[in-house]
Amino acid sequence: MFENLSERLSGVFDRLTKQGALNEEDVKSALREVRVALLEADVSLPVARDFVKKVQEQATGQAVTKSVTPGQQVVKIVHDALVDVLRGDEDPGKLKVDNPPAPVLMVGLQGSGKTTTTGKLAKRLKEKEGKKVLMASLDVYRPAAMDQLAVLGTQIGVDTLPIVPGQKPVDIAKRAKQQATLGGYDVYMLDTAGRLHIDETLMQEVEDVRNVVSPRETLLVVDGLTGQVAVEVAEEFDAKIGISGVVLTRMDGDGRGGAALSMRAVTGKPIRFVGLGEKMDALETFEADRIAGRILG
Ligand code: GDP
Repeated sequence: MFENLSERLSGVFDRLTKQGALNEEDVKSALREVRVALLEADVSLPVARDFVKKVQEQATGQAVTKSVTPGQQVVKIVHDALVDVLRGDEDPGKLKVDNPPAPVLMVGLQGSGKTTTTGKLAKRLKEKEGKKVLMASLDVYRPAAMDQLAVLGTQIGVDTLPIVPGQKPVDIAKRAKQQATLGGYDVYMLDTAGRLHIDETLMQEVEDVRNVVSPRETLLVVDGLTGQVAVEVAEEFDAKIGISGVVLTRMDGDGRGGAALSMRAVTGKPIRFVGLGEKMDALETFEADRIAGRILG
């Protein structure tokens, strides 16, 4: 396990004499520890470096509060700065799904948790917001993926678009739109096909679907345990498709959540939800505070 950052920092500050304010040297040694903690939490090096520099400027010269140790004080400064970067300016859990039927496009690599997250979000929209939701799988390459969505739909009591073998993704998307309009649905969610790696065909296909439905939300689902890879995936999808937010899955795992920080710092896109397990209710709205605590350990 990782050593707790507060303990490490106490170690650093124990070696220093008592002073009235955090001086540059104290802060520097403390932030070396912070940088290590960030890297261990899978924050990318450039992001960790920039972040530490910013905090260093903030922390130097701050008066040492009587009630906390300098170590705790630096942890607090770092924590607040993390929250600052992580927090998007909007309510992350509020999907823009007025004006029915509102299309929601789900994109991401295969195995990222896209289908599972589609089901989780549909359940949430239905139960928390009383929306009538239709889900459609556009994964024409893996019939099992289509069946998987249908099974989830039955499980959570949400309709899925009937499967018509041989249809292209764009045609399925059109059919979903039509069905959603005729059937009086508030939202229709399109679960696009993923690949193991980003390739041109995948991107073109998702782009074509996007052009057909003009999604209200385009959510990228990424595996939160893949760290830097998740950030690269987000950059590519955003550049080619344009995403409105990110869902980080597998945050129930051992990962320290550093991908979240790199994701925000590099792409500027808000993290909207986190997946916390395989079950249909294992989804939470993203909370900057919680992830900041987790990154610091
Ligand atoms: P897709 O290929 O992107 O559609 O991925 P799936 O939705 O089929 O998910 C792949 C696997 O990851 C399945 O076994 C899911 O149950 C699992 N999974 C999805 N989200 C989470 C999560 O937040 N936590 C955990 N532990 N497992 C998840």
